[in-house]
Amino acid sequence: MMESITDEPALADENGKIIRIGERWIALSARYWPSAFLEVVKGIGPVANTFLYNFGKVCGEAIVSRYIEAGIPKDKVVEYVLAGGWYFGWCLGYVVKQDFKNKILETVLLENFEADYGKGCHFMRGVHAGAWGKLIGEKVYCEELECKSKGEVCRFVVKPESD
Ligand SMILES: [Zn+2]
Repeated sequence: MMESITDEPALADENGKIIRIGERWIALSARYWPSAFLEVVKGIGPVANTFLYNFGKVCGEAIVSRYIEAGIPKDKVVEYVLAGGWYFGWCLGYVVKQDFKNKILETVLLENFEADYGKGCHFMRGVHAGAWGKLIGEKVYCEELECKSKGEVCRFVVKPESD
């Protein structure tokens, strides 16, 4: 039936599941996430940004736990997070600064799905905070210093909450 719509191969296997890196995935068009999702949360006001941030944070923590369990060296984990971001089409970016001593992480995303649909990447800020906080075992906070929705790139900095 799908052949009448597209000649692209199915993402799901014969059981109707998409399995990647040993986990079940679902492919969701950006028309739904984040586009339709952002449309819905817009109605709940500024708390939507906090929701997106906290959602991203939980995801970032889980991603880092997974890479640590897989035996990825601590100083390479953030690069793996970004590599996964590329692999799954979430973002394309690189580490600018990874300072374990001063507990600071800086990244640049050249492509970021969230910037294509919103004004400020709260989910991705949360992913950064969750990932870096989990990696260094600290409570951290992420700011987006520059957003591709208004400029060239998305630029993030993550620091300890106490700074
Ligand atoms: Zn952004």
